Amino acid sequence: MKKVDIVVPCYNEEEGIQVFYETTSGIVSKIQGYEFEFIFVDDGSKDKTLERILALAETNKDVKYVSFSRNFGKEAGMFAGLNYSDGDYVIIMDADLQHPPELIPEMIKGVEEGYDCVAARRTDRKGESGLRNLLSRAFYKLSNKLTTIKLERGVVDYRIMSRSMVDSVLALSESQRFSKGIFEWVGYKKKWLPYENVERTIGKTKWNFWSLFKYAIDGITAFSLTPLKVVTACGFFISFAAFVYIIITLIQTGVYGVDVPGYVTTLSAVLFLGGVIELSIGILGEYLGHIYVEAKDRPLYITRLTNIDTKGSKKDNGKV
Ligand code: UDP
Ligand code: MG
Repeated sequence: MKKVDIVVPCYNEEEGIQVFYETTSGIVSKIQGYEFEFIFVDDGSKDKTLERILALAETNKDVKYVSFSRNFGKEAGMFAGLNYSDGDYVIIMDADLQHPPELIPEMIKGVEEGYDCVAARRTDRKGESGLRNLLSRAFYKLSNKLTTIKLERGVVDYRIMSRSMVDSVLALSESQRFSKGIFEWVGYKKKWLPYENVERTIGKTKWNFWSLFKYAIDGITAFSLTPLKVVTACGFFISFAAFVYIIITLIQTGVYGVDVPGYVTTLSAVLFLGGVIELSIGILGEYLGHIYVEAKDRPLYITRLTNIDTKGSKKDNGKV
């Protein structure tokens, strides 16, 4: 019998955990030939999420959990879940039932057809504002232009992966993780599973405009050096334009004599160049920041409590 681990990152999901578990296990219990196990990753929740998970684990032996010492973010939660998993297949899904568990039988069918990964993809963005929709479209356009990996719009983290793919994902042990990119980067044979967006009915989303904006910048800088090249190209272009301008001015001065008024041109040049330099330093800074964080090599998460026996391995400290 093959084993499938269901990794569920949870942050402040006390209202939904119980119904999530009941719904999902109701569906997977009908799938023949596979043994399912849940790995709930409590990402330092401030509400009663951990208590709910502990209560579930008490009465259900298919409930495993890992609880962090604080909130490390969903990326760390997913990484931990994969790191603790040992199944032949691993499913990652959200705790808020926005990832319909009804898709699991189809995911299993996909891996039986020989795919390493069956990934869910939203076909619409129901319940999202026009602005968020527009910005998201812009992000995917830009990201696909700048990076070598192709991100599809509507792709969520909900997917099943084979053991070998999971191991490959874990082998990319960078601490600033952009999973959407990592899942693409590792390759493997993948099948898309379209589904209609489900609005969150319990609890609330942890995203806001700023966190999404930061996520987008990190996503691009994690997979592309193009912004740096754009800075260099801008430098070349501006230097060339300045050179031409100097020559023209010199000739004009030679021919017509010294022309003192020039307030507007001077001020425009100073402000424009100032802006370009600031932006360039900012872009450099983004990369420097990434290097800084990676160089510290801190654990991706710290486990405070778990019922998974890891026999003194480094898993509890976020190391593979
Ligand atoms: N989540 C997490 N840590 C965080 C934020 C979110 O583990 O710091 C979990 C959350 O509990 C949920 C999933 O990640 O299971 C998706 O979060 P959310 O529903 O807020 O995102 P959205 O569905 O709006 O993209
Ligand atoms: Mg959600």
